[in-house]
Amino acid sequence: MLEKMGDKLDAEAIIQEFESLSMDAGRVQRETLKKILEDNGETEYLLKWGLNGRTDPDSFSDCVPIVTHMDLEPYIQRIADGEKSSILTGKPISTISLSSGTTQGKPKYVPFNDELIGCTMKMYKTSFSFRNREYPIGNGKALQFIYASKQFITKGGLNAATATTNVYRNEEFKKTMTAIQMPCCSPDEVIFGDNFHHSLYCHLLCGLIFRDEVEVVSSTFAHSIVLAFQTFEQVWKELVADIRDGSLSSRITSKSIQSAMAKLLKPDPELADTIYNKCLGLSNWYGLIPELFPNAKYVHGIMTGSMEPYLKKLRHYAGELPLLSADYGASEGWIGVNINPKLPPELASFAVRPDNAYFEFIPLENNLNSLEVTVEPRPVGLTEVQVGKEYEVIITNFAGLYRYRLGDVVKVRGFHKSTPELQFICRKNLLLNINIDKNTEKDLQLAVATAANLLAEEKLEIVDFTSLADLSTEPGHYVIFWEISGNADDELLQKCCNCLDGAFLDAGYVSSRKVNAIGALELRILMRGTFHKIMENFVQLGAAANQFKTPRCVGPTNNKVLEILSDNVVKSYFSTAFG
Ligand code: AMP
Repeated sequence: MLEKMGDKLDAEAIIQEFESLSMDAGRVQRETLKKILEDNGETEYLLKWGLNGRTDPDSFSDCVPIVTHMDLEPYIQRIADGEKSSILTGKPISTISLSSGTTQGKPKYVPFNDELIGCTMKMYKTSFSFRNREYPIGNGKALQFIYASKQFITKGGLNAATATTNVYRNEEFKKTMTAIQMPCCSPDEVIFGDNFHHSLYCHLLCGLIFRDEVEVVSSTFAHSIVLAFQTFEQVWKELVADIRDGSLSSRITSKSIQSAMAKLLKPDPELADTIYNKCLGLSNWYGLIPELFPNAKYVHGIMTGSMEPYLKKLRHYAGELPLLSADYGASEGWIGVNINPKLPPELASFAVRPDNAYFEFIPLENNLNSLEVTVEPRPVGLTEVQVGKEYEVIITNFAGLYRYRLGDVVKVRGFHKSTPELQFICRKNLLLNINIDKNTEKDLQLAVATAANLLAEEKLEIVDFTSLADLSTEPGHYVIFWEISGNADDELLQKCCNCLDGAFLDAGYVSSRKVNAIGALELRILMRGTFHKIMENFVQLGAAANQFKTPRCVGPTNNKVLEILSDNVVKSYFSTAFG
């Protein structure tokens, strides 16, 4: 193989391959579409739209409609129920991925196949090659906070799990991790354990056992890394005791984890003392990661979009270690790779790999303000997007999704050769909207960050947050839920509430608030641990903890999350910002 050099990967060859794909992105896109349509032209779905063997982009967009997951759901359900005919793909689908379904609280079924595994491995290798050019690593290990989700068999006998779980259990995953010099510290039994808390504890323990070898600390999303070290703060003495005695805490009850860990643990009082003293020497856990893992080169995970609010905490734990933002993808396929890993996560963008899927982009005319337009503009191709403009992403992949709205809004930062570099803006449907107002996930994030500055003056932090457009009152109003790191007095929280109300700058919101067409914003303070309960609920439903994204806006049908929130409110405040 082109990129192989013994067992290691030839990063320069991978970069060269990526460069030549990006040089000719338009042609690669046409070929990618041709291949997808040739492989799947005889499926029920594509026959229905009358492509009649044509594989060019114009015929494709003329014949096949743009769809949402809801449109494809009946087809996917038939596949999951075991129908054997070629419904969406030429080759039978044997695996289903569960994508987060964060807002509505229900995971979505997405077809998964070997082609998606192939794309994932190419992305891992490309991303690693660019990273390694800036931050070379040796032959160490990666402390990866990764967890398998629940796995089950659908009515029709297909394996179903989250996309990351489907990747971890594929044999290509381990091979790639070895090739990119990132073998995981933890044994499979820990990754695939059926109790997320036990797996997290053992990941930490494995990391400590191999502390000198750990070169990378990572997870899919930044949230899981922060959660891991927050947990460390709670359990560190127990971890130290396990290392001292060479025996696993009784909190871990799974037999398979116990026996896998027994092979790694042996009494090591010296290591236990070192970790103990290092922890005692830290001030408020600042710089915990490099202190525990002296040879770590960086912390890696998705840090953009809904993960940005965790950056502050992650920086605190990472101290001087660089934070490298990971790539842009979804259960439906990979989109772009972070080829400038040196940029701070806030500036990260993703160069689209044009052979991963066929991409189209719906222009959002005045950027996000255009969400209200009634006639949607025609989508443009990958190489036709314009710098500075925002678009909604449409993907056609190798696993039966054709012109599928991914639901993400991106902005074109520039071009790498002829392929665009995209900045992730937000989920499109996560909007607070009551009247003529339109606030996105990003607007909410900014408002919360502004109000959080008031808390910071009192050395308090927002652990996590979400929101709700409450239409049960007349007029409707925004509700913002906060879990905070300690106790704040009423005066401060009232100030925060007013600040939040004033921090939504959208003209529709401000004008509606002035005439009371939208009621006073309400800030509800939650009990500590509420967001943990929300995550547990998603994990119960089949999500993987490392794929978890806190819903930033809770939809009206997301009953379980709404119930958890309302059961855990300790105080609430109404804004007086608009008199
Ligand atoms: P999932 O449905 O769990 O596969 O999650 C996929 C979604 O996660 C994408 O559609 C994005 O909304 C979000 N996502 C993935 N990668 C990134 C990234 N690099 N930055 C921000 N959001 C991302």
